[in-house]
Amino acid sequence: MARVSLDTLLRRSERNMGNGMNPIVKQTALEVIRRAYKEGINVQISQGMRTYAEQNRLYAQGRTAPGSIVTNAQGGQSNHNFGLAVDFFLITWDGTKATWTVNDNWRRVAAIAKSLGFEWGGDWRSFKDYPHLEMTGGLSTAQLRAGSRPSLTDRTGTSTPLPSNNGNSSSPASRGTELVKRVQRWANQYKEEAGFRALDVDGLNGPLTMDALLRICQLFGKTAIDGLWGPRTKAAVPEQSISNHQPGWTRLIQATLVCLGYNLSIDGIYGTNTRDMVRAYQRNQGISVDGIAGPETFEEFFKTA
Ligand SMILES: [Zn+2]
Repeated sequence: MARVSLDTLLRRSERNMGNGMNPIVKQTALEVIRRAYKEGINVQISQGMRTYAEQNRLYAQGRTAPGSIVTNAQGGQSNHNFGLAVDFFLITWDGTKATWTVNDNWRRVAAIAKSLGFEWGGDWRSFKDYPHLEMTGGLSTAQLRAGSRPSLTDRTGTSTPLPSNNGNSSSPASRGTELVKRVQRWANQYKEEAGFRALDVDGLNGPLTMDALLRICQLFGKTAIDGLWGPRTKAAVPEQSISNHQPGWTRLIQATLVCLGYNLSIDGIYGTNTRDMVRAYQRNQGISVDGIAGPETFEEFFKTA
């Protein structure tokens, strides 16, 4: 049985966390998944951000609505409402079935999370919440409700590559942050047409950003927008080169390379710098090196591992 890929776990978790997460909490949660994966433990995040309305719906469960009670917190009383908490669970080797048994692996994940600055709900004395991890920077929920926000420390280490569809990175991730924010702002102008929820402009090049770029590729290629790389999308990608290029496609290539760790500006001009970055990418990926970004290069960008 093949093991579920790390990228799949990161992608699902990022989606489940939703928009509005504190960027350090989000990044640290993804780092917990990466470190556990290296130790042979598959972990996934089931929940992150909850709005007050979502929290109130959850609170109603087992009280005024069917089901059993799952929380004692109403809207504004949970650190999930401020993007500071996540819930995790373990998943089988092939990634198809969730497991909720609090065993040694579960406790190991909690230990990894605590080493990165999370507080674990399994350590709470009154009500043990084993899936729950949070970072509040010492603030109470009353202070958070009043609008205070913690200044958290990123303990994941800048040498750790940020998640992306393809793990290769030619420059330190920390240099990418401001550029990735520009990518996210650029991508967000297409959110309605390309059918994705507005990206957080947090400078983290995660799977949601790559998903948005793939959808923009399908929008530009006038093919079905489903966020899945396949033969139809590949056939819709034109070649871009120094002698023959279009600004939109060129910006998409530049944006994608930025998210894969390359350092270039998103100016829509396919000049020698963009050509050289495309060449470097092609060399790193082991595909033919011609400095022309077409279907083969896009396939490397967006095919799933
Ligand atoms: Zn929780």
